[in-house]
Amino acid sequence: MTNSEPRGYHGIDIGGTKIELVAFADNGHELKEVHRERIATPGTDFAEFLLAIQGLVGRADKALGLRAPVGVGLPGVIDSATGRQLSSNVPALNGRAVAHALKDALERPVAIGNDCQCFALSEAHGGAAHGQPTMFGAIIGTGAGGGYCVDGRLLRGANGVAGEWGHWPLPASQFAAAALPVLDCPCGRRGCLERYVSGPGMSRLHLHLGGGDETPAAIVAQARAGSAIAAKTMALHADLLGHALATLVLTLDPHAIVLGGGLSQLAHLYDQLPAAMRRHLFPGVRVPPILPPKFGDAGGARGAALLARQQFATP
Ligand SMILES: [Zn+2]
Repeated sequence: MTNSEPRGYHGIDIGGTKIELVAFADNGHELKEVHRERIATPGTDFAEFLLAIQGLVGRADKALGLRAPVGVGLPGVIDSATGRQLSSNVPALNGRAVAHALKDALERPVAIGNDCQCFALSEAHGGAAHGQPTMFGAIIGTGAGGGYCVDGRLLRGANGVAGEWGHWPLPASQFAAAALPVLDCPCGRRGCLERYVSGPGMSRLHLHLGGGDETPAAIVAQARAGSAIAAKTMALHADLLGHALATLVLTLDPHAIVLGGGLSQLAHLYDQLPAAMRRHLFPGVRVPPILPPKFGDAGGARGAALLARQQFATP
């Protein structure tokens, strides 16, 4: 960019309990943080939610010294036909056309993506997969989702759901091998991967194999202490995840996969996943590096600002 006009973007990460705004100045190469503010999420009242965002953005404009476009990262799914929020852990947003309402309230361009897409963009720019021609950001936390970036740009697809690997069905062969129950998924389908490989999914596998009601970190600790059931849970979980990521390689063939969400902190996944993936790939297909995140959850607002830059920057 040669334009000397000052540029900047506000990134807003909306979560169930907090909203974080980070304002960035853009020098044409990178985003530099100049302002950050965090507030509690207004839970049930949509008008109150819009007022809170207006206040945040007004203060960020002052700090940045310009009226900046806004990127917003939201949990849940947006109906591509109506723009309405379908499922969210923020009750005030359910059924609302959030992007439309924010554009009106803020009187400026607003880019909206889901939190997984924002995570992927953040890790593709200055993050763990910086410089990779293609990368996939795979979030494994309370749910499982992701985003695919090509040359640093998020590829969203016709419905905006590209990268929703958590709602692929678990293959019949894997249900049979471990005698797994077919579980309902909040998305309305049954047997989605998310129900088995997310954090709560790993805990479910442990119960299914005869263990207690434990968190993933506790299961790993038990396996280290010699629990055979916990070791079996870890092996089954890594195999299910390995199959999913191997399918991802056969679909998108990313140069790197960056893990995000709570389970990205489990060190054994970086050791076990490459071998688990190889078991589900044919010879000659190389497994891409499986990398820990650089920004992790802290990259949500950053990714949202990058989304606004991707959508609104003029060359
Ligand atoms: Zn599902």
